[in-house]
Amino acid sequence: MFWREPLFNEDLLWGLDFEASSYCNAKCPLCVRHVDGSPILNPHLQQVNITLQNIKDWFPLEVVKKVGKLSFCGNYGDPCMTPELINIINYFKNYGPAPTVIRTNGGPRNVQFWKEIGKICDTTVFSVDGLKDTNHLYRIGVNWDKVVRNMRACVESANEFGNKVEWEFLIFKHNAHQVEEAKQLCIDLGIHTIQFKRPVGMDHHNSKEHPSFIVRDKTGVPKYTLDLSEEHYLEGYSPVLKNIEDVGKVDIKKTYEYLKNNKKEELDFNNYKELEDCNINCKMNKTSGEQRVVDMFIAATGDLLPCCFIATDYQNPHSETYKQLQKYLPIEKVSLHNNKFENILELFDNNISSNWNSKHEEGKLIKCSQICGTFNTLNKSFYNKERVSF
Ligand code: SF4
Ligand code: SF4
Repeated sequence: MFWREPLFNEDLLWGLDFEASSYCNAKCPLCVRHVDGSPILNPHLQQVNITLQNIKDWFPLEVVKKVGKLSFCGNYGDPCMTPELINIINYFKNYGPAPTVIRTNGGPRNVQFWKEIGKICDTTVFSVDGLKDTNHLYRIGVNWDKVVRNMRACVESANEFGNKVEWEFLIFKHNAHQVEEAKQLCIDLGIHTIQFKRPVGMDHHNSKEHPSFIVRDKTGVPKYTLDLSEEHYLEGYSPVLKNIEDVGKVDIKKTYEYLKNNKKEELDFNNYKELEDCNINCKMNKTSGEQRVVDMFIAATGDLLPCCFIATDYQNPHSETYKQLQKYLPIEKVSLHNNKFENILELFDNNISSNWNSKHEEGKLIKCSQICGTFNTLNKSFYNKERVSF
């Protein structure tokens, strides 16, 4: 037993990681919301907001009282897009002081909203990848002046209520020279910490290459490239830098139709043999301060899933592991709209954690081996680089 353990162990609590909305104001090219680096939306995306009524329907009070950590982030959307975010956080806070973290691109909403967020969230993390002249190259559609205004409002109120504001900065080739300036801006704005990160999705492990990622407009015309900063090249990997003038237009409509009408039907277990015998150290087994918590992910669609990593592939019919995930976590069984919280946790225990010592073909999730196996591709020290507190 893993996910149901807090039911029987009073020292254990649950951590809830919400995708409060699958709407977003931004159009980040590497985000799963989009097709092929363009602003065209993924045909499988269901745009939906979690409401306070959903929370009341999905989580009985005895569960709400056992929440020891709240997180608002999301695979397909920004949490600040849901109109009821503040009501939802306050609802949980009424029943216990669960530490609350929110991650956002910082663009949506007004000053009043950000003052409230600074007041009620223990940590607010702004994902801002550069400065005025570069942030929009990745966070397409996010207005720099609004981000700075919102950071300022949030810091002011966080200071008043003893909370923290952090800045997360993805380092690319186009913004790597702005690291020191960003630290100075943190000091000027009163931001407490800055975390520099290496972007996910810029490494081709099979070919051992770092190819340029092409950013396209909605018709498929290439606009510019995103490249890794040299200091983040892996040993033995070569950069494959493309000149945007030499990159052709793609038929985004055709790609969209293909993605819409096809899904990955085959899964070749032989491709994952070398991962099979790894030990699993599940990242959902967490500590929050002194408290041990068992974490899980709630998608904006109402699907309760073991973690955000599984949720990303679970909602993407083209991912390699989609078919295996659907087999062990059938859609009709994981939806909080038609199944109870505790029943879904029982499914996780029976189909996920109890298979961590078996073979992939017998039920051990390939995704678990990839993310939390002995060779951990999402190792924090691999993606999290310099961290500075002021
Ligand atoms: S802000 Fe987040 S959800 Fe929105 S497009 Fe960017 S990565 Fe995706
Ligand atoms: S991938 Fe599997 S092992 Fe890793 S956090 Fe998710 S559920 Fe846990």
